[in-house]
Amino acid sequence: MLFDIDGTLVDTGGAGRRAIEEAARLLYRRPDIFDDVAFDGATDRAICRAALRKLERPFDEVEIDRLLDAYVSLLGPEVDRSQRYQIHPGAEQLAQAMVEAGVLLGLGTGNVEAGARVKLQRGDLNRFFTFGGFGDDAEDRAALLRAGLRRGEAILGRRAREVWVIGDTPKDYAAGHAIGAKVLLVATGRYTRFELAQHEPELCVESLEDPRVLALLERRLDD
Ligand SMILES: [Mg+2]
Repeated sequence: MLFDIDGTLVDTGGAGRRAIEEAARLLYRRPDIFDDVAFDGATDRAICRAALRKLERPFDEVEIDRLLDAYVSLLGPEVDRSQRYQIHPGAEQLAQAMVEAGVLLGLGTGNVEAGARVKLQRGDLNRFFTFGGFGDDAEDRAALLRAGLRRGEAILGRRAREVWVIGDTPKDYAAGHAIGAKVLLVATGRYTRFELAQHEPELCVESLEDPRVLALLERRLDD
């Protein structure tokens, strides 16, 4: 099982956006370069690339690394002081139940790993996720999910029988299906259940508290 972070496990209450805008202010005096960049379901490198284009000068991969390093160093304090940080309903209970059932849990997120760990730290959720595919692995979401899946299978020592990708955007759906996974979409992010259901994921729920999510786990164990 590969879990997305923002909108799926937690909401940082805008801390991620505030930290990256502050990084751009410090480096370029241009916090506005992220203004009309869509963050939902996008990877950190893709977000930075879209923003840096607005500087209207050439930039290279090192520049993206520099911006991301500045972002990660600002993210911790932003997450800590965020007024609206929350773990989404049912997320922690689901992770706990899955770990107890012996299901291997990983992350599948566009966040660079250092940023991902900071976002989960405040809610003490890192303990459930020993591995993952991250924004450091690839700019393309399917490619980073594949990296996460490879790591999970290395831990299992065999091919996974059934892989689920859990996310909150159509991009999670597209990337999950691209790697042959089943997809669970949850409407705790910016998209409604109605919007997400249009993509016909294997399961679409209002929140991870929906009993069908745990039922899925039980069915899976019966296989
Ligand atoms: Mg998300």
